Amino acid sequence: MRIVIVGGVAAGMSAASRAMRHNPHAEVVVFERGEYISYGACGLPYVLGGEVKDFEALIARTPQQMRGRGISVRLRHEVTGVDAGARTVTVVDHASGRSVAEPYDQLLLATGVSAIRPDWARTELSGVHVLRDIPDGQAIEASLQGASRAIIVGGGYIGLELAEALSCRGLSVAVVEKAPEVAGRMLDPEYQHRVRGELEDNGVTVHCSTTVEGLTGRDGRVTGVQTDGGFLHADMVIVAVGVRPNVDLARAAGVRIGKTGAVAVNIRQETSVAGIFSAGDNTESIHRVTRRKVHIPLGLTANRMGRVAGVNMAGGDATFPGVVGSSIFKTFGLGVARTGLTQQEAGTLGLDAVSVDVRSTDHAGYYSTAKPIYVRLTAERGTGRLLGTQLVCHNHESVKRVDVVAALLHGRGKVQDLFETDLSYAPPFSGVWDVLLVAADRLS
Ligand code: FAD
Repeated sequence: MRIVIVGGVAAGMSAASRAMRHNPHAEVVVFERGEYISYGACGLPYVLGGEVKDFEALIARTPQQMRGRGISVRLRHEVTGVDAGARTVTVVDHASGRSVAEPYDQLLLATGVSAIRPDWARTELSGVHVLRDIPDGQAIEASLQGASRAIIVGGGYIGLELAEALSCRGLSVAVVEKAPEVAGRMLDPEYQHRVRGELEDNGVTVHCSTTVEGLTGRDGRVTGVQTDGGFLHADMVIVAVGVRPNVDLARAAGVRIGKTGAVAVNIRQETSVAGIFSAGDNTESIHRVTRRKVHIPLGLTANRMGRVAGVNMAGGDATFPGVVGSSIFKTFGLGVARTGLTQQEAGTLGLDAVSVDVRSTDHAGYYSTAKPIYVRLTAERGTGRLLGTQLVCHNHESVKRVDVVAALLHGRGKVQDLFETDLSYAPPFSGVWDVLLVAADRLS
């Protein structure tokens, strides 16, 4: 059996490893158009900020290590076409420029997403960057030499992680966001301003409700950003305005693309075309709270989908359970987490949702490192079904308790289930009635 995998990062390499473990007699070949495989893109902001030593530290497995496991890895090999009838892919070797047809029995598309580059982005100017992969990170690192003013366009989690990283490197940083607040896709409005406050308290200038109209440059280097609110000087601009799933190959192969714009799959990660699987950021999943198809490109999801696809391509039987919309990040000292639905999202979906807000401390109130923690818990009115939670705290690890609610959402738990959960307690970790229990009690 010949298993061919397109894309060698989270989903692709998880699939390769699982397929090999499930069927050691299979031939597994990974084609990766870039220079790197199996690395944690999530760590890129922390290399730039200095918390992680270097980009190499993000690499989990090298091509040599994968070859040692019997997996063939071909770097700088781009798959440019799929003939689903003949079960072949066209592969261009960027080193030699040669193009060959490679056969497959099972094919996985693990092609990820690309950063959106609006027309104004002018990435040909030096100092203008996106951040998706290690070469992008290296280019930003090189641009930092001699730079003093950075503008980050986009106030999503990657933009806000970078705001911290570049500030730590001594740059003066401004964030430009089109929406009325930063972190707008993640939190309800009542919680978004806390994130902006953290940025401003740490010297970042935040321009919300501001649209970028163009970039200016001189001698090939960026000099500033023209917005509808005026001109901002900059010698570095990071464009972090979102991502688009890489589905061209899937589309060309006749694979169905879902309404979300990502590849549609069943719970075995099979696409609409026999013998072709899809996994990772390029693929949609099912939201277990709403039962709707969603495209939420995140690391654990990509690894898990890849694992499921790997087992199934190798002749096994695995299923992907779906997601509940959990995500977490920090900017400076502030931790931010959410799972399920916000009150606003629930309303947009026509759900009759009710929320309670609790301000408490993350540790016992008398404990020296206790910090205020803000929690919103959301449930369905009448039934008490949990819909989601949002947490913000200056001890950033404290928002990881979001996972308690995520676990309950997977089982379609109710507010009462949360209230009755036997959570751990000691003063350095929480109050005796943890803030989640207080919220559940108030919502019951
Ligand atoms: P990718 O990592 O995008 O890999 C796809 C690969 O396919 C690429 O290497 C690409 O070169 C290759 N490819 C595409 N087309 C072809 C082709 N035709 N031929 C050959 N190769 C091809 N997620 C979290 O959960 N938490 C975080 O904190 C977090 N932080 C992040 C921070 C940053 C800066 C970034 C960029 C991402 C972050 N993520 C985070 C998202 C996470 O990194 C992704 O969900 C994950 O990398 C997706 O893995 P993937 O394998 O699906 O896709």
